[in-house]
Amino acid sequence: MVPPVVIIDLDDCLIPDGTAARAAIAAVLDELSITADEQAVDTVLAAARREWRENRQITHREVERVASWEALWADFHDLPMPPEVVDALVGNDVRAWRLALDDLGSSADAQVAALAFRRLRRALVVPFPGVEQALESLGERHELWLATDGCRSLQRAKIALSGLADRFARVFVSGEVGHPKGTAGFTDAVRAALTDGRTVCFVAGDSETTDLLLAKTGGWPFVRITDEVRFAGAAAFCRCP
Ligand SMILES: [Mg+2]
Repeated sequence: MVPPVVIIDLDDCLIPDGTAARAAIAAVLDELSITADEQAVDTVLAAARREWRENRQITHREVERVASWEALWADFHDLPMPPEVVDALVGNDVRAWRLALDDLGSSADAQVAALAFRRLRRALVVPFPGVEQALESLGERHELWLATDGCRSLQRAKIALSGLADRFARVFVSGEVGHPKGTAGFTDAVRAALTDGRTVCFVAGDSETTDLLLAKTGGWPFVRITDEVRFAGAAAFCRCP
């Protein structure tokens, strides 16, 4: 018999994203001898948001679900997009860091800051405590699928860096699927992969919009990952006979 599927989110479910971005920004500021308090981190995040949102090419479906803090370390070079779109996106990180450093009153080199962020942010791609064991346990009686929003280069790099790639039989990245997670198009792509009578045990994710909508549109049970309900305990939600 084909085992039931568990569909799992990546960012802030298996690995940290928001907190890792803040920690990496603080570490960059520290390296540049800039006071790295919460306010300074907020200033960098605001500058990153401004730069990203002002870019007219961020609606391209390959990158439409890339967050401004993710755009600081995403690699846009090899994405299957027209050259003018790639050109508009490459360099976003340096431009955002220039804005941020200006806002912080620093004349530090934006290129140096951008490279430091990439290095420091990569080092923070570490699964939350208990995630590996939870995947191991769930994987004994389920097929594990990953469903994540973002561009293929960054999401697949994160999966590789996390050391979790081998755990998943299928990986759905919104930029590759061509539809954001939570839309009917994304759910249809997942459903079409449920061949040979596969059923879904549950969807796990932290987002009350994208992850919940994937579960709702698919008609599948949803386990919301929060500070209280960690993925480490997800196996307890299995209701398979
Ligand atoms: Mg998430």
